[in-house]
Amino acid sequence: MGEIGPRKLIIVSNRLPVSVSKKAGKLSFQRSVGGLATGLASFYRQYDSLWVGWPGVAEEKIKEDLQTVKRHLKKENCVPVFLPQSLVDQFYHGFCNKTVWPLFHYFPNYAVFSSALWNAYKKGNQLFADVLEDLLRPGDIVWVHDFHLMLLPALLRKRIPELAVGFFLHIPFPSSEIFRLMPWRDEVLKGILGADLVGFHTADYVGHFLSSVRRILGYEHSFNQILTERRMIQADVFPMGIDYEGFRKAIESPAVKEEIERIRQRVGSNRVIISVDRLDYTKGLLHRLEAFELFLDRYPEWRGKVTFILLVVPSRVGVEHYAQLKRDLDEMVGRINGKYDTIGWIPIWYLYRSVPREMLSALYAVGDVALITPLRDGMNLVAKEYVASKVDGNGVLILGELAGAAREMGEAIIVNPLDRGAVAKAIKTALEMSDEEKAVRMSAMQRRLERYDVVRWASDFVERLLDTKARQIAFSGKKLIGEEADKLIQDYSKARRRVLFLDYDGTLVGFRDKPEKAEPDPELYEILKSLIADEKNDVVIVSGRDPYTLQRWFGDLSVSMIAEHGVWIKETGGEWEMIELLDNEWKDKVRPILELYTDRTPGSFIEEKEFSLVWHYRRCDPMLATVRARELKDALLQLIANLEIGVLEGNKVIEVKNTSINKGRAILHWLARDDYDFILVAGDDWTDEDMFEVVPDWAYSVKVGFGISKARYRLDDPEEVRELLKRLGGTK
Ligand code: UDP
Repeated sequence: MGEIGPRKLIIVSNRLPVSVSKKAGKLSFQRSVGGLATGLASFYRQYDSLWVGWPGVAEEKIKEDLQTVKRHLKKENCVPVFLPQSLVDQFYHGFCNKTVWPLFHYFPNYAVFSSALWNAYKKGNQLFADVLEDLLRPGDIVWVHDFHLMLLPALLRKRIPELAVGFFLHIPFPSSEIFRLMPWRDEVLKGILGADLVGFHTADYVGHFLSSVRRILGYEHSFNQILTERRMIQADVFPMGIDYEGFRKAIESPAVKEEIERIRQRVGSNRVIISVDRLDYTKGLLHRLEAFELFLDRYPEWRGKVTFILLVVPSRVGVEHYAQLKRDLDEMVGRINGKYDTIGWIPIWYLYRSVPREMLSALYAVGDVALITPLRDGMNLVAKEYVASKVDGNGVLILGELAGAAREMGEAIIVNPLDRGAVAKAIKTALEMSDEEKAVRMSAMQRRLERYDVVRWASDFVERLLDTKARQIAFSGKKLIGEEADKLIQDYSKARRRVLFLDYDGTLVGFRDKPEKAEPDPELYEILKSLIADEKNDVVIVSGRDPYTLQRWFGDLSVSMIAEHGVWIKETGGEWEMIELLDNEWKDKVRPILELYTDRTPGSFIEEKEFSLVWHYRRCDPMLATVRARELKDALLQLIANLEIGVLEGNKVIEVKNTSINKGRAILHWLARDDYDFILVAGDDWTDEDMFEVVPDWAYSVKVGFGISKARYRLDDPEEVRELLKRLGGTK
């Protein structure tokens, strides 16, 4: 099992790397072609791992052979998910290929939005979850692949919460403007967020995903980490590599050399341009041919001297848009060939079929230029395979800027695939490039491909997944339940003098749209009264709210209070006092800025406290508010550079106040007495961190909610805090 220890690694993708078919009553098993299968095949055999997926044939067609198929696949470490014909049609050919594929590749007009297909997608994902549930144990690592299974991470998380789940999307994640057209966008995002690590080919896709999550679900992120109510999820870039050595070695094999010879005989001394794609509207085949036509038109000196070998691999046969594309392609090739061919020269040599690996390698070797200009492509492995195969460095890659690979392969000639003139010019430049320049460009790209090959890509992903899992645990702290909670109760009962510092909003009560609505309820009063009733206890409510509100809510109880994050304190039975005298002149300078931002950000408002100003943005459009909050913070920081005030970010608020004041300093007023042998401090946001910092190590510090904290323990929400306090107060 190598680096990953005793845990199992389970790879899940729609298709298994082995396909099953049945013809004339006879079963046959074939290794599948395609980016992912080729890519992971070399990786997954290194580990003691399993691959779960669909074997490529409808369940009904192999009804009597299910056990035989299972047994055979088991030998290959594969576990089949059998899909009935209805799901093959509606899940795979349906929602996957007719909804997600076009939408994510920026072809919204081709996308079919049908709830029947969506239901089939859910069903398909459920079937995968059912098979996996029987295989998985809590400590296992699951790596889910691609757009067919976007709901699976959350389904697995629900069934086995402790799993480490990674998700990798092999196609582009589109801009949120496109993504949000999907009627089921919330469910899809929530499905993906069941994973701990979400990987993409490029930083652009990560950015689009993060902004969709923020705009649609309202979850914030920083450093590519998304914070939901309960968990931290990491998103990151892992550009998929290829089997670099495999492609290098292939060139030397006799079979490939023979193929090279055969092609050479056909093209003679002509220079060769190649392209290799599945038949798909995302690949830009028609635009590419038009550009080639323009090249022959504008640069007649090249006529008769160059052959374009266009390999198109059949794909999704029978789907309407694909059939139309095939007709258009045939027609266009015929037209261009008819326009320019001469006796002994045909400009385009058009192959419509899948070819064996030797032929593919031979094509890469023969191609002086590879012309790869998709209109959208998650990565494009062909570009990388071509570069790897150019052992002698004598080739030029022309790569469309909308392929994910363009982000890493800056030494290629990068073109806009829609700009026919630029593509035509690029072909000329490539054909006329000096050998030295070709070699320099090739070797730079080759070094990168060699270092970051498919095995490195896969192991990087898995390592990062385990690392994310470890950070999640550090992030969330130890939960104050079970034995830990029992120990707290014991310490509490034994103690002679106790103090409880309790933050109010987010700790004793949940957040509401308007702060004034979050007032104490009868249950909270009961809990507080039960705690106060024990004369060994000092109960201190520590809040950012103003003293008037606290007085109104808790004035009748014998609790102590801290208001405005520590500006004011009131001991039980005493009067409100200010910790130190503060001046307020800065407010007149800051207020106009806050007003400006309030006007510019619908839903935001200003709260004026005696010694601070607060800008609230909980009710605003999350995307706009985050941008505005950042701008506002910048503006304020510039303004207050020489003043003794600070700008602090809280839970959907920005607060400007005197920097010498904080909750930590305020609770020192009690801690300095040094006669407590039990201390509990609970709070939910960064202003409470100042308290966690000043209490002794043995104190029970509790972060409420999720996020980085100095507190020793964690509880999920105010309900859990109340449960704990009820146990302390003996009401439960
Ligand atoms: N390929 C293949 N048989 C062929 C032609 C190509 O197996 O006849 C492989 C090719 O080597 C590459 C993959 O198909 O690994 C295509 O991957 P790419 O990322 O370029 O495009 P996709 O088909 O995934 O959209």
